[in-house]
Amino acid sequence: MSELEHALTVLQNQGIKKTTQRLNILDYLIHHRIHPSADIIAKSLKMNLTTVYNTLEILISSKLVYVLDNNQDGRKHYDYFGHPHYHVLCRNCGKIVDGSNIDLHSFPNLAHEASNFLIEQTSLEFIGLCEDCQKLLGLTENN
Ligand SMILES: [Zn+2]
Ligand SMILES: [Zn+2]
Repeated sequence: MSELEHALTVLQNQGIKKTTQRLNILDYLIHHRIHPSADIIAKSLKMNLTTVYNTLEILISSKLVYVLDNNQDGRKHYDYFGHPHYHVLCRNCGKIVDGSNIDLHSFPNLAHEASNFLIEQTSLEFIGLCEDCQKLLGLTENN
């Protein structure tokens, strides 16, 4: 099953119709793991910005798309989230890197045990300085 097929099954299971716009944005995000802002998505897909925002809202509610909104540039960045992963953000240049070497599947249970909340979503972010910015700021240990 392709990633897009997986995503469409998730939509279908939630009773969300697969429109051309939803399909196109999902396909774009699956193949561009660059955490784009809405206007980059609109430009790349030659879609109206309002349509992009409206479509993203639905995809976010389906949990297939994740919003990063604490980035340095003050803009919202969107990410395909069909498989949970965490993010590492550079506080200097705003670079965002995906991390998959932490198994997030046990986190909702742990959070439920700690709070008795019904957990609906997991997000984990680390904030620091990327390699380039460490060099720029003279923070590298070896050189
Ligand atoms: Zn940086
Ligand atoms: Zn990501």
